[in-house]
Amino acid sequence: MNKRIVVIIIMAVILGGTALWATSGPSAPPTYVFITIDTEPDFPPYMDSYRGIEEGIPVLLDLFEAYDVTATFLVTGTVAKHYPDMVRLMAEDHEIGSHAFSHRPLTSLSYEVKLQEIGVATSMLESIVGRDVTSFRAPYHKCDEDVVSILEGLGYLVESSAARGIEVPYHPSQEDWLSAGDMDILRVPVTRDPVLMYPYDLEGRSWPDVAKQILSCEQAPEAIVIGMHPWEFVDLDLDPCYGAYSRLCGEETYNDLRDLLHYLSSQDITYLSLSEGYDAFA
Ligand SMILES: [Zn+2]
Repeated sequence: MNKRIVVIIIMAVILGGTALWATSGPSAPPTYVFITIDTEPDFPPYMDSYRGIEEGIPVLLDLFEAYDVTATFLVTGTVAKHYPDMVRLMAEDHEIGSHAFSHRPLTSLSYEVKLQEIGVATSMLESIVGRDVTSFRAPYHKCDEDVVSILEGLGYLVESSAARGIEVPYHPSQEDWLSAGDMDILRVPVTRDPVLMYPYDLEGRSWPDVAKQILSCEQAPEAIVIGMHPWEFVDLDLDPCYGAYSRLCGEETYNDLRDLLHYLSSQDITYLSLSEGYDAFA
């Protein structure tokens, strides 16, 4: 055989083997996406209606079914009290977590009232869904060491309030809930970088654009935590003084979420509920 042909065959075998190694080597794990819904009365503390529960939740459930999303609804005790059947409907395919009882900023309350706000909502939600409630987000994201230790004492697995500091899932310190430590409960904060992942906080950009930016990073994050409220999917006819809320509530936010889920359906991501996140990051 001609020497030149032999060299070409050897090179082809080497290159082929290299390509095979490259495609069969260890691949990066998928990014976990947590879709979380703060399920509360409309636009607190300014309104006390429940159009988000009556009109927004059915819209969200349909979208999640269409895109095979497992989500976590963090529900206030007041919603549970007025809409137990809707909570049961949400629980059929999704996790039910707690958003405390009455949507007051917990950090302004005494330890005893914090305990009451969290404990009453927990019992109410558990009696409605018939299983343990183990994920929590504080109203207005006002969390502190007391809240985290009350949650751990009640058997909660995940606390998910947004806060500056560590932005990846972590076990907090008993002395400082914003630092890593050795508590059993896991913090899965709402993603803040490049923006806080609520529709009105996207700084004029669309959800898909922000998600593309995050997922196209050389090292995509292990978790993206996205937050929303059911009332953002209803045209609340808010006064323009409320800025982004009055512009976005209703069709615009619906279209943005639909486009986000469509984009994510083509990406290497896995949807997890918050309590599934506890096991994934154990
Ligand atoms: Zn809230």
